[in-house]
Amino acid sequence: MSEFSENVKRQADIVKVIEGYIRLRKAGAQNYKGLCPFHKEKSPSFNVHGAQQYYYCFGCQATGDVFSFVGKIENVGFPEAVRTVAQKCGIPLPKREFSSPEEAAESRLRARLLELHEVTTAWFEEQLRGPEGAVAREYLAGRGLSVEGIGKFRIGYAPDSFNALRDRLSGTADQETLRASGLFSSKEQGDGSLGPIYDRFRKRVMFPIANESGRVIAFTARTLETGEKAGPKYINSPETPLYSKGQVLFNLDKAKAPIRQAEAALLVEGQMDCISVYLRGITNVIATSGTAFTEQQVALLHRHTSNVFVNFDPDAAGANAAEKSIALLTEEGFNIKIITLDDGLDPDRFIRERGVDAYTAAIRGARRQSDYLIERARQMFPGASSDQKVKAMNYLLPHIRRMPEKLARDQFAGDAAQKLGIDSAVLREELRQAALRRRDHLEARAAALTEVERVLLRALAIGDPENEGARRLAAQALEEQPGWFEHLGAFQALQALAGRKARDPMDVVEEPAQRALLAEALLAEVKPPEANEVASAVQEIQERALEGRLRDLRALIGEAERRGDFAELALLTQQKLELDRALRGLHHQGI
Ligand SMILES: [Zn+2]
Repeated sequence: MSEFSENVKRQADIVKVIEGYIRLRKAGAQNYKGLCPFHKEKSPSFNVHGAQQYYYCFGCQATGDVFSFVGKIENVGFPEAVRTVAQKCGIPLPKREFSSPEEAAESRLRARLLELHEVTTAWFEEQLRGPEGAVAREYLAGRGLSVEGIGKFRIGYAPDSFNALRDRLSGTADQETLRASGLFSSKEQGDGSLGPIYDRFRKRVMFPIANESGRVIAFTARTLETGEKAGPKYINSPETPLYSKGQVLFNLDKAKAPIRQAEAALLVEGQMDCISVYLRGITNVIATSGTAFTEQQVALLHRHTSNVFVNFDPDAAGANAAEKSIALLTEEGFNIKIITLDDGLDPDRFIRERGVDAYTAAIRGARRQSDYLIERARQMFPGASSDQKVKAMNYLLPHIRRMPEKLARDQFAGDAAQKLGIDSAVLREELRQAALRRRDHLEARAAALTEVERVLLRALAIGDPENEGARRLAAQALEEQPGWFEHLGAFQALQALAGRKARDPMDVVEEPAQRALLAEALLAEVKPPEANEVASAVQEIQERALEGRLRDLRALIGEAERRGDFAELALLTQQKLELDRALRGLHHQGI
């Protein structure tokens, strides 16, 4: 964070800023509560912590500081969020500056990578128009793409060469930047160093992936090769400082305005589906790019709409992807409808062969998710035997429990009972129970955070001078014996906090899931733990680690016995004895 943004953060009161957007009421000494603006809810689970200056939602786990809140709700990036908050607090805006050389370097690198991607996109477009691009042009024409459509999505061609792009870019950036771009590959040498770089994408049609502001940050590349030489049909840019696969929705830059206007998004699987549908005038369409839908993508979408039409491929993989996406979207309170196309066509082929009117009709005829899931249950477990009915019901129960609205759960359960022909009183009761209470996914999360983790997180995060002894104890143990802590769900957060120095705890833990764990621990209890609480937590961790090691040793001993390897056996037995002794010692200490 820059000096300026830190300064703004110190002066801004997160409670006041958030109150400008939603209604908050006091819920504790430092804690305020309100209805979450990031997911649909009827009773408030959105918390703002006045002392620690962060927010946390128990419903959707949204969390962060004042900038993240403003960024999310205003749908702007970090610099814009800082400016917005500064304006709200009447702080004059400076020229751009950075707090550290690393930060400046990182920002420079990202800017360089954006430029490289721009140059590369234009170059791929040029190659597509050139003589070598003929085969790619033919392929695209065969898929019904016009020159205008190709231009709109800036589709290009990577020639069949290991060095054409490298030569094109070599004067514009140094080796390190080129490596970081993800546009090149290299082989590891015998001595472990990286060999010279060569073009990653060869003889492929190039589909640029843009960020929300429409700048190219990565590519999807489709092969034009057939047979064994072809390699995978599609390859993507690897993760780079610009691009993280799970955090991008393809075409959101073009679709976000139409999505807001239509108050709904159309979600398809493939980029070709997306492009094809978009170019025929249905512009509120986005694609997951063939990956499983992630929580970040759901959150991204939620900023624009709560209504989504899902149209995945009808094959088994598509049905599974649809089901997972439906589960995630349901939990986040989306209204979901499922489109199924006739004759097992994907959206691209359907709209090309049957026309846009037929596709619009299919969208209008989309089924509620409950109808879709009941139908799927009947397909997977056909027949009227009670055995099949139980299986179908077990498939549906988690889906029912996931729905946030009681009314919707009731209706779903009722429909399921009727359509599956369930007449057993026991099964009906189970359906009724599922509808009665939403499966509390918070409980599952809270259980994931053990008491030991809570103690350690609080010890490391709460910067109270009186707490110094407890903090040091936890930090030391983590530093000296990281292996003991590795299996903990909050390990990353713990490690980051152990080395945090004077920095704000919510700033050092960057990974969203880890930050949610920390926020949860801090909300539950504002006091730092006593040193002896920390000591016994550390001891418990140590015990668990030793017990784990003991289990491994027992397995190894069993194996050595089977092999008849007596030298090994003696060694292992000795180790086991020592471990037994260490564990007994710990138990005594405990008493
Ligand atoms: Zn929420």
